[in-house]
Amino acid sequence: MNPCDECPIDDKIYECCGRFPETGETACFTTTDNRTVYACPNLRADGKCGIYENRPYACQAHHCYHYDSTDSIGNGFQALKAQWGSCFY
Ligand code: SF4
Ligand code: SF4
Repeated sequence: MNPCDECPIDDKIYECCGRFPETGETACFTTTDNRTVYACPNLRADGKCGIYENRPYACQAHHCYHYDSTDSIGNGFQALKAQWGSCFY
């Protein structure tokens, strides 16, 4: 499983998809619980990248703390976050 598929949208926007890395561009993004936040214009409503196959190198090479701090599939991070809350990161 790819941890990005299960990643909470707030983590995604905070960590990796808050802006388009090549230009810093943002656009209004409406979350499923109806909050409006700024995010990369390519972030789709379902939380996936709209240009995934052609996303910039910066996105492909993004160094994700979730991967780093876990068993490589994200489970460790989610468990730690559940235990310690969002202050963990
Ligand atoms: S790279 Fe990390 S923060 Fe970004 S969607 Fe994937 S798991 Fe979430
Ligand atoms: S281009 Fe795609 S992977 Fe890169 S920041 Fe935007 S939504 Fe995320």
